Amino acid sequence: MSYVDEVFDLVVAKNPAQPEFHQAVKEVLESLRVVIEANEEKYRRDALLERLVTPERQLLFRVPWVDDKGQVQVNNGFRVQFNSAIGPYKGGLRLHPSVNLGIIKFLGFEQIFKNSLTGLPIGGGKGGSDFDPKGKSDREVMAFCQSFITELYKYIGADTDVPAGDIGTGAREIGYMYGQYKRLTGLYEGVLTGKGLSYGGSLARTEATGYGLLYLTEEMLKCNGKDIKGKTIAVSGAGNVAIYAIQKAWQLGGKPVTCSDSTGWIYDSEGIDVALLKEVKEVRRARLTEYAAARSSARYHECGEGSNVWTVKCDIALPCATQNELHLEDAKTLVANGCFAVAEGANMPTTMEATEYLQGSGVLFCPGKASNAGGVATSALEMSQNSERLSWTFEEVDSKLKGIMVNIFHNLDDAAKKYGMEGNYVAGANIAGFLKVAEAMTAQGVV
Ligand code: NDP
Repeated sequence: MSYVDEVFDLVVAKNPAQPEFHQAVKEVLESLRVVIEANEEKYRRDALLERLVTPERQLLFRVPWVDDKGQVQVNNGFRVQFNSAIGPYKGGLRLHPSVNLGIIKFLGFEQIFKNSLTGLPIGGGKGGSDFDPKGKSDREVMAFCQSFITELYKYIGADTDVPAGDIGTGAREIGYMYGQYKRLTGLYEGVLTGKGLSYGGSLARTEATGYGLLYLTEEMLKCNGKDIKGKTIAVSGAGNVAIYAIQKAWQLGGKPVTCSDSTGWIYDSEGIDVALLKEVKEVRRARLTEYAAARSSARYHECGEGSNVWTVKCDIALPCATQNELHLEDAKTLVANGCFAVAEGANMPTTMEATEYLQGSGVLFCPGKASNAGGVATSALEMSQNSERLSWTFEEVDSKLKGIMVNIFHNLDDAAKKYGMEGNYVAGANIAGFLKVAEAMTAQGVV
C-alpha cells in the first residue's frame, strides 16, 4: 500500500466520527501524492505525514457561564494547535452550535497550508465552541467570552498562539476576549487579531478576506484570458466574507446578484445593495427577509424550497458561507448555466465530488485555503503592526493584501505546472503550502 493510503487509513482509524477532518486530509493527501511518492523513503522514515496529520496539541475545556435568567450554561471549548513549524499557531475561533472536535481539526489542518501559502511566518491552529451568539444579549456574549478566555489564556500569547475571528466571532467577541486576556495576564500584546481600531486592530482587516478573494479571482481570470468586468456573480453567505466580497466585486466591475444566510437566500436582479446588506446584517443583526422587504428588486427564498443561490444563472460563483454548501447537483447546475469560475471564500464549501465535477468540466476552481487566505494574511500584518507599536494606513494594508493574493495565485499556479497538473489549483495550493512546511519540519528534527 502506498504511504499516502496508509496514512489516510490511519487517520480514519485514529479519529473516528470526524468526517470533515477525514475529508480535508483526503483532499490534501491525494493532491500531494506525486510529491510524496517522489520522496517516499525519506518522508516515511521521518514519519512526516503521520506528524503532519496529528495536531501538536488539542485543548478541550468546559466553558460555564450564567445567562440573563440566572441559569448556568455549559459549552464545550476547543483549541487545536496543529502545526508550529513555520511560526506561532494562527487561526480563528468559530462560535456555532455545529462546532465539534472534528470540525476544528479540519479547519486547523487546512490552516497549516493556507498560512504557509501567504508567505508569512505563521503556523496552523483553530478553535471555538458550540456556543451560539445568535439571539444572546451582549451581556451573555460577554459572560461566555470571558469564561472561554479564562481557560484559554494559559495556552495563547503573541509569540505562541494568536487566535482570530471566524463564524460567530466578530469584533464584539474579540473585544470581550481581549479585555479578559489583558485583565488576567496584565499584558497589552497582540494576542488576538481582528481587534477594534482603538486598541490595536488593523485597518482593512474587516474587509480583508472578501477583498482578498476578489483580488485572487481577478488574477486567476486574468491569467486565463478572462475578466470580472460585466460578469454576473453568485455569492453565498451574508457574513463578514460575503459582504466584503460583494463590495469588492462591484468595485472591480462585476455584478453580484445573490447572498444567503442559514434560513434563506436573496436574488436581487439589480445586484446586491451593499449598504442595505450591511445595515441588515452588521447593524440590525437581522434576517435577510428584512433586506427583501426594503428592496423591490429583491426576491427572498426560504432554504429547502428546492433552489439556492447556485440555481441562479451566473458567470462566477463565490461560496462564502460554510463547509460543504456546494454539492454535486449544484456544480452541475452551475456548469449547465455557463459558470466558468468558482473561488471559495469559505473553508471547504465545495464537496469533493462537486470540486472534481467542476474541474472536470473546465471550470477555473480555486480552493479556500488559497482564495480566502487574505484574512489570515492581514491578521499577520496586524501582528506586525502590534509588534512595532505602529498602525499602517488602509491603503498600505490593502496594497500589501493585494500583493500577497497575487503572489499566492502565482505560487500555486507555478506549483501545479511544475508537477504536471497545469490548471489544477487545488493540487497547486496543497503542494506549494506543503513544501515549505515539510522543509521546516525536516530542518527542525523529530519534534
Ligand atoms: P460570519 O459568521 O460572519 O458569516 C457566516 C455566514 O454564513 C452567515 O451569513 C451565516 O448565516 C452563514 N452560515 C453559517 N453557517 C451556516 C450553515 N450551517 N448553513 C448555511 N449558512 C450558514 O462568518 P464569516 O463570513 O467570517 O465566515 C464564512 C466562512 O469563511 C467560514 O467558512 C469561515 O471559516 C471562512 N473564513 C472566514 C474568514 C474571516 O476572516 N472571517 C477568513 C477565512 C475563512 P447566519 O447568519 O444565518 O448564521
